Amino acid sequence: MAAYEETIAAVATPPGEGAIALVRLSGPDSPKILSRIFRSSPASLHPRHATFGRIVDGEETIDQVLVTTYRAPASFTGEEMAEISCHGGILLAAKILELVLRHGARAAEPGEFSQRAFFNGKIDLTRAEAIMDIIRARTPLALRAAAQQLEGRLGSEILALRNTALETVAHIEAFIDFPEEGIDPASGRVLLEKIQTLLARTTTLLGTADEGRILREGVRVAIAGKPNAGKSSLLNRLLGMDRAIVSEIPGTTRDTIEETACLRGILYRLTDTAGLRETSDLVERQGVARTERALESADLVLHVIDPSTEEIPPALRENEILVANKSDLPCLALPPGAIAVSCTTGAGFDQLLDAMSEASGLRHLASGQSLAAINARHKALLESTRTSLEAAATLVQANEPPELAALELRAALDTLGRIVGTTDTEDILGEIFSRFCIGK
Ligand code: GDP
Repeated sequence: MAAYEETIAAVATPPGEGAIALVRLSGPDSPKILSRIFRSSPASLHPRHATFGRIVDGEETIDQVLVTTYRAPASFTGEEMAEISCHGGILLAAKILELVLRHGARAAEPGEFSQRAFFNGKIDLTRAEAIMDIIRARTPLALRAAAQQLEGRLGSEILALRNTALETVAHIEAFIDFPEEGIDPASGRVLLEKIQTLLARTTTLLGTADEGRILREGVRVAIAGKPNAGKSSLLNRLLGMDRAIVSEIPGTTRDTIEETACLRGILYRLTDTAGLRETSDLVERQGVARTERALESADLVLHVIDPSTEEIPPALRENEILVANKSDLPCLALPPGAIAVSCTTGAGFDQLLDAMSEASGLRHLASGQSLAAINARHKALLESTRTSLEAAATLVQANEPPELAALELRAALDTLGRIVGTTDTEDILGEIFSRFCIGK
């Protein structure tokens, strides 16, 4: 692949006041641009060493900085790179960036550094996505999953699948030269086994899609129950238990009545369905519809009852936890399976959190197991991989002409390749990298 000719630059740190900001350059002209604006003593720079010096605009000193350079291909992007650590502050980093641009660099697009790293073979697409997942991670679990993906676990699993698929195609294509003979039953069995192994591994990976979504987006929890059961009190208790330093990320779409809490490493998006109702009749009806929608789309429903006044409710939904609130008051009877809590005293919340992480399917992850959780893009591609593999298996079983099975396997190869980016992925790159931050 041809090397990029342009040198790109960006401020890699978020805007605002801080101790340090980072201006990043990547591309063939990085050393030349740096030599025009950086003065140090001694003047020579050692790659991968930080050098103290001054950023100058002609005679004027702009700031005292530390500069680290990287020689191609031993850098994140695989190109000549320089990183200027200057003092933090809104104006300064922008001023240094402007200086760099004036000396020939171009302002980088969001994700352009990572895109270059991908094109230069430094990372596959799953690892590029992991970088963004790490930046976006809002819970320790999500962070761990992303870190494992960055290590390349998912990428290597996909590549291993792809290699097996490739071997299988080669195996089939060996028969294509002898069309009159077809595939003999013994070889057919071996082939079928290979395809079925591929299918099983694809299905296992697909099974992690829900975990992946929950890790990345959080568990959608609806809090339901009769008026006065204690729904709002429960919501407030759960929110009050969130000790994680999770601040709202600007730009994430979120319903105003949805609150998020990170509890035991898991992100929950909590909706109090009482808050979905409005006062007058007409809006009340819309409120009911919205409550139903919230219940339907929830991963988990916390059904709050007040057993001091309420009858035992009918059978639960599969994803429903019955929360018997007000355990500090005498109750009529505790329904089977209910978790007794008191929003007033805080009693029972340990058990409730256990039940919530269990029901979210993330409890085993919290206990330290491997986290190969795929995202929506991987899911779609793995689903078409599975369809192609199933078709290939059927064709081999029916002893159809080998070309047909080979065609299906080639389609599977293609979709697997698109996951890691080894097959032509031009059309999806913009979509993936545009979601990145500038400077990454
Ligand atoms: P909602 O209508 O379901 O949202 O219920 P609220 O959270 O507004 O609570 C209804 C009433 O029950 C309020 O007066 C709360 O103070 C009270 N309440 C909530 N939880 C408890 C509890 O655990 N024990 C007691 N004794 N009262 C509670």
